[in-house]
Amino acid sequence: MDLRLPTHFGQGYKSPSQLARRITEPWGAENLYCCACHSDRLDAEENNAQVSDFLCPQCVERYQLKSQSKKLGGRILGSNYQKMLDAILGNRSPNFFLLHYQLPEWMVRNLLVIPRFAISPSVIIRRKPLSVSARRSNWTGYVLNVALIPGSAKIPLIVEGSEIPRNTVREQYARIAKIQALKPEQRGWTLDVLRCIESLPNEIFTNDDIYAFEPELTKLYPSNRHIRDKIRQQLQVLRDRGLLKPVARGVWQRA
Ligand SMILES: [Zn+2]
Repeated sequence: MDLRLPTHFGQGYKSPSQLARRITEPWGAENLYCCACHSDRLDAEENNAQVSDFLCPQCVERYQLKSQSKKLGGRILGSNYQKMLDAILGNRSPNFFLLHYQLPEWMVRNLLVIPRFAISPSVIIRRKPLSVSARRSNWTGYVLNVALIPGSAKIPLIVEGSEIPRNTVREQYARIAKIQALKPEQRGWTLDVLRCIESLPNEIFTNDDIYAFEPELTKLYPSNRHIRDKIRQQLQVLRDRGLLKPVARGVWQRA
């Protein structure tokens, strides 16, 4: 990958968000590759929307590129909430590339991919309509809360200017893809429990270690009265997908 962004594409644009899009989109078309198959290129899709879309010519996996000059932290601004929610529930949401570039050099510093099946309804947060006309048209934006996505589903391609080998990226994508057959409305729970597991200090842990997240999960699912049952069920789901290994009764190991 060429880590220099092609700034000449930004000539004539003043708005920072438009400028960034004009510059990062052609960079993506030149440098991005498919993480789901062995295609070393992606095609930019023609559209008039506010987003940059890419399509894998081999496996037709879709990607959306979001770029910012700030470090990739907790939240990413998205566009239409209802459209995104429908896409998630209909299994049509794109994979996300999140790109962090450094100014004034316009150099790519960090890039990661979030596989589409790691985006559940609970990580997209509806924003308040900004204006009266927006309220009237019922258009609401959303924020992608990246902090709620498990670490293993935020797969780095570039870390502080260093490229990660493509086969490593593709292996990590394939690992998390094991949950893609789950129904979109079920995946939220699986991903939330996986995120809790990944935040534990040790690879080996007990049911009680995970029950410690009960208050946090209750906040996410206030209407669910059987949080512990749900946690136990999700541990089985993760085991069945090969993401957890049973060690003994009530004892697990991250796989
Ligand atoms: Zn592909």
